[in-house]
Amino acid sequence: MKLYPVRGGIHPEYRKEQTSEKAIVLMPMPAALYIPLQQHIGAPAEVLVKEGDLVKKGQMIARSQGVISSPQHAPTSGRIAAITEVAAPHPSGLPQTTIIIEPDGKDEWAVLPEPIADPFAADPHLIHERVAQSGIVGMGGAAFPSAVKLNLGTQKKLDTLLLNGAECEPYLTCDDRVMREYADEVIDGARIMAHALGTPRVVIGIELNKPEAITIMSKAASAFAGVEVIGVPVQYPMGSERHLVQAITGLETPARKLTADLGIVVHNVATARAVHHSVRFGRPLVSRVVTVSGRAIREPNNILTPIGTRITDLIEFCGGFATRPESIVNGGPMMGQPLASLEAPVVKGTSGILALTTEEINDQPTSSCIRCGSCVTICPCGLSPVEMAAFIRKDNLEGAAKLGVRDCFSCGSCSYVCPSHIPLVHYFNYAKGMLSDLERELRKNDRVKTLVEVRTIRIEKAAEAKKAALAAKKTAAAPAATPTVDEEKTNA
Ligand code: SF4
Ligand code: SF4
Repeated sequence: MKLYPVRGGIHPEYRKEQTSEKAIVLMPMPAALYIPLQQHIGAPAEVLVKEGDLVKKGQMIARSQGVISSPQHAPTSGRIAAITEVAAPHPSGLPQTTIIIEPDGKDEWAVLPEPIADPFAADPHLIHERVAQSGIVGMGGAAFPSAVKLNLGTQKKLDTLLLNGAECEPYLTCDDRVMREYADEVIDGARIMAHALGTPRVVIGIELNKPEAITIMSKAASAFAGVEVIGVPVQYPMGSERHLVQAITGLETPARKLTADLGIVVHNVATARAVHHSVRFGRPLVSRVVTVSGRAIREPNNILTPIGTRITDLIEFCGGFATRPESIVNGGPMMGQPLASLEAPVVKGTSGILALTTEEINDQPTSSCIRCGSCVTICPCGLSPVEMAAFIRKDNLEGAAKLGVRDCFSCGSCSYVCPSHIPLVHYFNYAKGMLSDLERELRKNDRVKTLVEVRTIRIEKAAEAKKAALAAKKTAAAPAATPTVDEEKTNA
């Protein structure tokens, strides 16, 4: 099949050899599981249990609130030990209400929904509903509720389900192993998803650095008409939806549009496997495969992990640290985030935990921009990182917005190639956060029409607050007024 060129991109050291040949192993059940109510994009789930309740594996313990939300299920049987915000930090580092389960060691399943007997004859709504009830979210890291994406066929004319098996982030091999070890389940899940979407065609895109996965998946797909596996070039960030679509179809997704506007919906391969479990067996999403890697880990591995397992337990299962890690990352090294605490649990979007040594991280001192233009050449979105960063440094967010900073998806390629080691992507993350805040203010207050006005209001408010604080300080520091004669008499 003809492939199409994709703009920019880089070829980082892939470092997948630490775990690519490690077959998936099962994480022993830890002493406690920590289930945050927010493991997905959208509204957090609403608690359905209370402290002391006994729960079974697969039982819903928190229900979704609204359309963009997702329920949580018990990953094993046991007792609800606590529902708290304090004891279990979220991987994001922000406080999160978390249900703590003490496993009873029986791992006993709840009564699950009946399998959907013939999913290809079933009403697509039944599949949407089942996937929503099973708490399935995008397992490539985005964690967007999958049922919402599976419903897009009711709103848009679709022709292709594109299954993302690119796994372009260095170190990560969890998707590779899922495809090699559970190819039939992935293909079945993909076909069910295609039926739910109403698309006649399924394409599975896998980077060419996973030849075993391509062979095994091609064999599993060969039994079905309309399902094809395509090897795509090894080029970061090929795993981004838009770039995978472009490589396979030649179509470019316009800024602020969805790939669905081109008739293509993209789901991750592990998500397809979760759909297979949900539809064929009624099982909700209660575990996932996580790659634990990096040279600071004694025994890197791919581990089928109950959701809610603390990262410290996962690392201990891998033999602990071989050496002191310089950095611990949640996700891949390019788009992952530094982990706030080892006490944080594995959530549905956790694809990898990396413990990196000093030699593995690029911790070079930053110097001035030499205007080499490398960041512009490699940006896969056709942006000008050097100019956007210059605007942001001058606090000119509007300038950066005009240059398209909102279209940056934080792939980190520009920071990676910059010879001056300027952390460009940090600038863009900061600017995108600030712009979202400002736009929220804009929406709240329709008196103001432009970002400049919002910024002016903010500055004025800050100046007022500063003035008030100074005045308060002066009053506190002023000597007490001399009492009047009458007052002295009264006090006496
Ligand atoms: S981080 Fe943003 S600006 Fe930098 S290369 Fe990626 S998309 Fe382009
Ligand atoms: S890659 Fe770095 S040094 Fe080169 S133009 Fe971009 S910001 Fe400047």
